[in-house]
Amino acid sequence: MKNIKPLVILNETILPGEKRTIYMEIAKLHTATKLKIPVIIERAKLDGPTVLFSAGIHGDEINGVEIVRSIIVQTINKPLRGTIICIPVINIFSFVNKSREFPDGRDLNRVFPGSKKGSLASQFAYHLIKDIIPHIDYAVDFHAGGASRFNAAQIRIAPHNEELKKLADVFSAPFTLYSKNIAGTFRNACEKRNVKMLLFEGGKSLDINDEIAEQGVNGAKRLLAYLNMLSPNQKLTNETDPSIYISRSSWVRAKRSGLFHDYNKIGCYVKKGFVLGTITDPFGKFEQKVKAPNDGYIINANHAPIVYQGDAIYHISNELGHHDQERSENQI
Ligand SMILES: [Zn+2]
Repeated sequence: MKNIKPLVILNETILPGEKRTIYMEIAKLHTATKLKIPVIIERAKLDGPTVLFSAGIHGDEINGVEIVRSIIVQTINKPLRGTIICIPVINIFSFVNKSREFPDGRDLNRVFPGSKKGSLASQFAYHLIKDIIPHIDYAVDFHAGGASRFNAAQIRIAPHNEELKKLADVFSAPFTLYSKNIAGTFRNACEKRNVKMLLFEGGKSLDINDEIAEQGVNGAKRLLAYLNMLSPNQKLTNETDPSIYISRSSWVRAKRSGLFHDYNKIGCYVKKGFVLGTITDPFGKFEQKVKAPNDGYIINANHAPIVYQGDAIYHISNELGHHDQERSENQI
């Protein structure tokens, strides 16, 4: 019964019924400018679990930031019971630079649980795990596809975890992908600390897509309703289709370099041989069709106007088994 008591987090005490924004400070910019990470906490008077909504582990994944911002603006983070903690921009250093990596070139999502005296990214991870995560029961971490790769809205969970599957059912993103936890990720560190985390992927980097953002917000509301934490002032959207579970998928790669024309079948089910797009040269000499290698759902499409031979251009589900199986986030 965590929440009847005052919550002591980052040296501040928050009573039931209180809301507070706390600013985490881990390091300054090279300009000596302070960088603060706002941690927005809302507590109900009634006892209940603690839920974290976070985004921006990768500083260029703006769509996730927009989802957590929307959750705050729509006061979805004001719980009926328990506590909701929102961190819209975890990796504020990369967000300032609009880059995926830390200024030192490290990927924050590969250095968890971090260390007190490690690299800046590692220190960041360490403080997040030490100061925030011990308070959390459930979490949704919002991401977007790397670079120009646009993800259909999807939840990613480790296989063989019935509790997470139940939460993914509740969230009801259009797709749920089974993907193993990768060492060094926030998700892996959370699971080891018994935090039930859903990883949301949707849209692409340096982009805001309203439809994807809405799917993220609606899923968050459904999760809160399931946990009996959604304020009665909030309305749930009408019934959604059950999430489509995908356990096998593979990347379609460009067979040639050239200009890439995507035919926008993201989220659709296509049959083997369906033309997903074309690759052309800039001079009107060749045009090559990119065909679906098997029946499946298109869960990611590359929106780059120019591709090189071997670039991953489509991510397609493949329930029948395929050798080139790559399922982890941005492992392209
Ligand atoms: Zn990410």
